[in-house]
Amino acid sequence: MNQLLIFDLDDTLFETKSISKTSVKPIFDQFERLLINSYGKEMTENIVSELWKFPFDFVAQKYLFDNTLNSEFARLVNQYEYQLNIKTFEDFGIVQNLRQEKILVTTGFLKLQNAKIRDLGIEKDFAEIYIDDLLDPKRIHKQGIFKNILLKKNINPNLIYVIGDNPNSELKAGFELNLNTVQVSKFGQEKSEYAHYCITGFDELKTILKQKACIQHSL
Ligand SMILES: [Mg+2]
Repeated sequence: MNQLLIFDLDDTLFETKSISKTSVKPIFDQFERLLINSYGKEMTENIVSELWKFPFDFVAQKYLFDNTLNSEFARLVNQYEYQLNIKTFEDFGIVQNLRQEKILVTTGFLKLQNAKIRDLGIEKDFAEIYIDDLLDPKRIHKQGIFKNILLKKNINPNLIYVIGDNPNSELKAGFELNLNTVQVSKFGQEKSEYAHYCITGFDELKTILKQKACIQHSL
């Protein structure tokens, strides 16, 4: 039976922080002006620094952004022409050489996520690509996307591997659906309770897949 690999993008296949601040700074400069009107200078400074570090929806919820702020940020993000100049992690070649079918599932703003994929030049490495768009009113999140993949492929969940860095996103979603979860800990993150495996490099992923394939074959 063939294994199926579902990959996350940010901090799994490339370092999100490697997107240089200058390449998206015009968006933040314009948004900062709007934030100052609502939150004042001091709090805006905190908010902007968190926006660099955390996903937009997390920060928006924490500071209770109103609809105008959310839609203005979305407008800025979706209008901008991105030149990101980013590269995959050095060992991505191991992923490219894996013979298993690979699917990419990533959360974020549609245009920005597409720009990352285009800039990394990885479209051809995945049989299917899904973007969990933060602005989609009918958003089904990663778990909904995984469920659809399960239905479509009609394969044993035991053969599916979800590979990503975020315990509260793909790892939790995959764990709850009884899929194998592999946490990518490129920066020494602690192993999550939702991770069956924790790896620092893709050579380890290759080993896990091989071992599991042997066990499944002998059953
Ligand atoms: Mg990630």
